[in-house]
Amino acid sequence: NLTDKLERSFKILKGEGRITEINIAETLKEIRRALIDADVNYKVAKSFTDEVKQKALGQNVLTAVKPGQMMTKIVRDELAQLMGGTATDIRLEGTPAVILIAGLQGSGKTTFSGKLAAFLKEKKGRHVLLVAGDVYRPAAIDQLKVLGGQIGVEVYTEEGNTHPVEIAQNAIKYARQKGCNVVIVDTAGRLAVDEAMMQEITAIKAAVDPGETLFVVDAMTGQDAVNTAKEFNDRLDFDGVVLTKLDGDTRGGAAISIRSVVDKPLKFISSGEKMDALQVFHPERMADRILGMGDVVSLVERAQEQFDEAEARKLKKKLVKDQFNFNDFLAQINQIKKMGNLKDLASMIPGMGKALKGVEISDDVFKQTEAIIGSMTPAERERPEILNARRRERIAKGSGTTMADVNRLLKQFDDTRKMMKMVAGGGKMKLPQMPRG
Ligand code: GDP
Ligand code: MG
Repeated sequence: NLTDKLERSFKILKGEGRITEINIAETLKEIRRALIDADVNYKVAKSFTDEVKQKALGQNVLTAVKPGQMMTKIVRDELAQLMGGTATDIRLEGTPAVILIAGLQGSGKTTFSGKLAAFLKEKKGRHVLLVAGDVYRPAAIDQLKVLGGQIGVEVYTEEGNTHPVEIAQNAIKYARQKGCNVVIVDTAGRLAVDEAMMQEITAIKAAVDPGETLFVVDAMTGQDAVNTAKEFNDRLDFDGVVLTKLDGDTRGGAAISIRSVVDKPLKFISSGEKMDALQVFHPERMADRILGMGDVVSLVERAQEQFDEAEARKLKKKLVKDQFNFNDFLAQINQIKKMGNLKDLASMIPGMGKALKGVEISDDVFKQTEAIIGSMTPAERERPEILNARRRERIAKGSGTTMADVNRLLKQFDDTRKMMKMVAGGGKMKLPQMPRG
């Protein structure tokens, strides 16, 4: 992938004392090749490396900084610049603020509509109405209804009405009556760009005059994503781009190309199918991700958000008094689960993306742990020290595991308790230790 290639290209510079025209040429060629391989448009990659070259040669080479490090920084900053420099917020203008969702079928529009509704409800305190504008497939309406049910957001539908323009207009009237201040209009897509779809979406846009039209595109579609973005933008003149399915190893080279071809900001990146996984797009972090440095900032933010502060304080008190027990351990696991897909989270840690390639991590890793704790009596959970061999034997039987499994968990529990006690004693509450399942 792009990261490996860039790493290799930086190696060329390793050991060199200075950046010179000669030793940089090979590196730049490698970077260009890596970008093109990651579906970055050739012209974009070329002008990018030209820019990097200017910056690199213009630098006074500091002896304290290794050329490789300096190049990494230049490349990172340039990449971020290429993707817009700074984060662009979603515009919520109008009463209600109308957000129109456009894109090909299967790009993730409906899923994103749900995530955005949850995001605006939870993070911005908005009263949201979702509108089912994909009238051609009954399943599409049901899909949105299910998502709405999950996140507690009302979904506007009109049974039997096959005119999305009318539905969207009626939905906005309905939103006014109901006091909703954001309306998200999900629309139908097709497998490829065609005239009928474009006419429909432009008609909806003209009729409802959305404050924000977002184009949703699947990050895994590579160079096609760029072409589709261009075609949609030519017709629709959208306001921002949403990159979906940025799961696991997908590096997001499409983010670079799209930005430079349509010159519209990327506003959100989306991964996983859980409704809480929406992230605002940050160019610097995306640059890190593309370079494989890991999206540490996002990871920490997400963890902080999800880790309940009150819970943490309670836990800390217990830890200091050495009363941490299996009930707390279980609560911790639930905290970790709330943070979303484990693989998503893990892949944000620098170096983990690569390490996890082909490894399956799911919430199942906790199943055994939960089963074992589930087979403990309340007394055993509260006072783990009473777990003698006879009790462990019973627990293993009860949970369908082995003595070895139970012992392993007890060892983990002990380690966690020790580690957390140290952390708690030191003042700050750190992230919960993840059991190794
Ligand atoms: P639409 O046709 O544009 O409305 O696309 P959907 O929202 O129905 O998504 C198409 C498929 O992709 C569904 O199976 C979704 O569950 C899945 N999907 C959507 N977004 C993501 C994502 O960010 N990551 C992953 N892994 N799957 C996604
Ligand atoms: Mg859909």
